[in-house]
This record gives sequence, C-alpha cells and structure tokens, in this order.
Amino acid sequence: MPRLSSQQLHSLRNDLNIDRLVIELLHIPTQEINALRRFQCPLCGRFHTATHPDTNLARCFDCRKNFNTIELVMVVRQIRFREAVAYLKKHERLLVNRSRPLEPQPALHKPPSTPTSNPRVTSSYPSDAKTIRDQQNQANTTVSSHLTAMKRILNRD
Ligand SMILES: [Zn+2]
Repeated sequence: MPRLSSQQLHSLRNDLNIDRLVIELLHIPTQEINALRRFQCPLCGRFHTATHPDTNLARCFDCRKNFNTIELVMVVRQIRFREAVAYLKKHERLLVNRSRPLEPQPALHKPPSTPTSNPRVTSSYPSDAKTIRDQQNQANTTVSSHLTAMKRILNRD
C-alpha cells in the first residue's frame, strides 16, 4: 500500500462522517437514549457515548476515550493503523459527508511567497548603472536649475 500524505490522513479523519462510519460501515449497535443516538463502545460495551460532528470524534464517557475514524476502525475491526487507513480509503466515497462535494478537497492555501515579499529584492531595484547615471543626471539638472534661479534672484538688484 502506498504511503498516504498527512493531508490524506487528515481527510480520512475529518471528511468521513463518524456517524455514518459507526452505523453504515462498522455496523456498531446503537441505542436511542433520551432522544440521542448512542453507539456501543467497542471497549467497554456500554452506551455511555456520543459522537461529535464538529470534531468528528466518537467518545466513550466511561472509558474517557475519544476515537477518530481511524482509531474506531482499528478498535472495532481489531486491525492495525495501516490496515484501518486502507479500509477507510476503500470505503471513503460511502462516508463522505453528503453536504460536502465529492471532489477532492483543494490543497491547503499557503501564504504567497512572491519575490516582491523579499525586501532585498525590492531595495536592489533599480540597480543597473544606466539607471543610476540617469538619476544622477537628473539630480545635477535640478541643482543647476536651482543655481540659475538663485543667480537670477541675486542679480535682480
Ligand atoms: Zn467505553
């Protein structure tokens, strides 16, 4: 099995609906207690549990343990991490949240690293000799025009 990137593992943990994993894929027994559906903890067999849609974790309050999707598959099916990942990968499409598109998630946005963000690049511009000479010429012209103006003022009286 090829190694999965951390982004792919992140997707397996977060983009696969934990409730659907419990019910539709692992077929873990559930009970409705106080209008809440509880799944049977694979460790202690009790129903003092909950799933959290925000964190996409299943928790057993008696065992004080959170299971992400991969951990839940490992515990229920008694398989190792890589087998659990392969298992989830195989059933990935079945478990993707219906509210989300089935297309692969776009790559994480990285901060732009354009050359202009490097101050050394911007400060070195303009650096070619011709430009510097032009600037010097321009400065000389300005100074001489000032001198001319001053002479005109001085010669006025
Ligand atoms: Zn438990």
